[in-house]
Amino acid sequence: MEVYKFGGASVKNANGVKNVISVLKKTKSLDVLLVVSAMGKMTNAFEKIVDSYINNKGNLSKYIDEVMSFHQLILNNLFQNKSLPIFKEIELVFIGLSSYFINNKNKDYNYVYDQVVSLAEILSTKIISAYLNHNGVKNTWVDAKKHIKTDGNYREANVNWTTTNKNIQKLNNTSKLIITQGFIASDQFGNTTTLGREGSDYTAAIFAYCLNAKSVTVFKDVAGVLNADPQLYDEVKLLSKISYREAIEMAFYGASVIHPKTLQPLQSKEIPLFVKSFIDPLKKGTVIGRSIDLEPVLPCYIVKKNQILISIATRDFSFMMEKNISEVFELLHKHKLKVNLIQNTAISFSVCLEDKFNQLAHFLLILNAKYKVKYNNKTTLLTIRHFDKKSIEKVKATKVILLQQISRETVQFILK
Ligand code: ASP
Ligand code: MG
Repeated sequence: MEVYKFGGASVKNANGVKNVISVLKKTKSLDVLLVVSAMGKMTNAFEKIVDSYINNKGNLSKYIDEVMSFHQLILNNLFQNKSLPIFKEIELVFIGLSSYFINNKNKDYNYVYDQVVSLAEILSTKIISAYLNHNGVKNTWVDAKKHIKTDGNYREANVNWTTTNKNIQKLNNTSKLIITQGFIASDQFGNTTTLGREGSDYTAAIFAYCLNAKSVTVFKDVAGVLNADPQLYDEVKLLSKISYREAIEMAFYGASVIHPKTLQPLQSKEIPLFVKSFIDPLKKGTVIGRSIDLEPVLPCYIVKKNQILISIATRDFSFMMEKNISEVFELLHKHKLKVNLIQNTAISFSVCLEDKFNQLAHFLLILNAKYKVKYNNKTTLLTIRHFDKKSIEKVKATKVILLQQISRETVQFILK
């Protein structure tokens, strides 16, 4: 069997949903498990709902209405007959959401986030499954939460592979076409968890691993993996082959094409990952697998925005040594700050990091008590894999560089 993944951009409206059928027909795929993300920008829209609820920001019902109207519009465009059960089913999801807000007592942001934001994937898959069934493409809707089991690390949950494997194996006896949700899972108590933003690729890899799938195909609004983001660079080229190792490196540096955790399970069973256009699914696109590192070999640009650059120095001009550095790292870990680059000199230590869990202020408070701390907000981390002279010169000529680090295959810049 094969695993297909459709991201938010591919199902952002009714035409996107219709296109899922066309992709299945064009590729003549019979034995497929389909992993689908939230429609369009619905994850962000649900984040706004959670934020408003937790921080009492007001507008809660307005934000819920916006999300509801978005899905109703798609339903209305997909189905003539408004008395089909899917209309009621979607309504029930929103009734459930309202009663959740009335009854919930646990105000932990990360916990609430997962219970609420996960509904975006439930909505998208219910609608798509119903549409396909209605149009003769018979399929079974499967609840990913019942199959992928994780710990309770909300918003970045870790998979329990033993239980997950056992659960997913049971799907071997299910019908040929399965539709399930990306991104969402549940912990041992049955609370919903999520696998981290953009985690649907990872979901696809988890199912593929447990089902020994032949391949995973991620359908995108671009032709495959490109050497740079076309929204940021003019001349971008398609990479036709990428090795697992190279792709893991790219994902690590923040290439948004593939969620970083996706590749490990695939690599361990040598399951190839195809990245293709959902408009042109028969075109070759990119294959990530056991191959030469990169074809063609080109400088690859990876941009990560919203980075914080922090320089830490001892107050008495003593050296920043193992002991101080390990202390800083322990603090970073405790505050769930994700480090993307480090550099140290004799008396100062710089880290470039991301504050996904809103813990920077507290981290700085503790750090300041002992060290001299300077920092820049909103910097950009630019990584160039397989750089050449020209690519470096261009950055130097056009950008303000705060820090630079170079190794054999990779150069990284922190830009203002
Ligand atoms: N819907 C989730 C997100 O936007 C997961 C995904 O798209 O992969 O982060
Ligand atoms: Mg998404």
